[in-house]
Amino acid sequence: SETVVRAENVQVKYLIGRAGLFKRIYVNAVNGVSLDVKKGEIVSLIGESGSGKTTLGKAMLRLVDIYSGKIYWDSTDVTKDSKKDVTKLRDVTKLSEGILRRLRKNFQLIQQDPYGALDPRLTIYEILAEGLRLHKLVKSQEEEREKIYEILKIVKLTPPENFIKKRPYELSGGQRQRVVVARALLLQPKFIVADEPISMLDASTRGQILEFILKDRETRQTAYLFITHDISIASYISDRIAVMYLGKIVEMGKPEEVISEPLHPYTKALIDAVPVPDPDYGIKEPNIKGELPSPIELPSGCVFNPRCPLAKPICKEKEPELKKVKGDHYVACHLY
Ligand code: SF4
Repeated sequence: SETVVRAENVQVKYLIGRAGLFKRIYVNAVNGVSLDVKKGEIVSLIGESGSGKTTLGKAMLRLVDIYSGKIYWDSTDVTKDSKKDVTKLRDVTKLSEGILRRLRKNFQLIQQDPYGALDPRLTIYEILAEGLRLHKLVKSQEEEREKIYEILKIVKLTPPENFIKKRPYELSGGQRQRVVVARALLLQPKFIVADEPISMLDASTRGQILEFILKDRETRQTAYLFITHDISIASYISDRIAVMYLGKIVEMGKPEEVISEPLHPYTKALIDAVPVPDPDYGIKEPNIKGELPSPIELPSGCVFNPRCPLAKPICKEKEPELKKVKGDHYVACHLY
């Protein structure tokens, strides 16, 4: 089916300092990632903290600058009445914020709560109304009110009149996270990056938020990039899973391929580390020798070679490409 967002060989670097007059020091957060997310598809990104998941998500939303590569957005409905002949997948890599603003309605972020994600000075009603007004999605106050009440019911903040006048600090963490979800869903976007949207919530809220996401995908065919370090949630919710290590996708495929038949030595270690399901969602660090190398000086060849139990001489010299093994299953490793 149709691609909604495409990353093509994307690199993101953060300048963190200089050495001498000419040398710039960068953190290499995303190192050449290509990824398509299709209409109605949920793709999970898994990996340890520091693997570049959040930066890739933000790059796909054009919320961080891209050092090289390209980002494309499906922009059909926004451009259909413009006279210009704009292709469906539009290269948005270099677009200014002013132009991006018109397209942004369709490309939304759900962040992990949240004391930061919601403006503490605004009421819940104002927080939800902001996006509708900015993107001119309502024609009257009644329509605005209707939409806001409806979405509050969907995310189970009911009755809505008990919530609209409250401010974020008057809500629990779980309620605030529902507001964050409601704010994104209200705009009826085509693509949502959900960045650890449930990791701080209690078990029942967690389950409900996953259900909102699955339902929204089903009814509106929204595409999702779901960022998590929880493999069991990723396998439950996703159509495809991409495993990131040091800013690269090292393995990608359907959950049954990646989780049941992992190929990459890093994925295997990550899966072996999954703790028995526990109510506190304790996340174990994968049991891999050595530390995660610094993203300032990346290892040569395969980025996993300093920690890989199966490394061969070629692994230090040549970077493995992400190649199709069978079906939808891709791996970047010289063993295959
Ligand atoms: Fe290990 Fe080599 Fe495969 Fe990298 S390419 S994961 S170092 S075997």
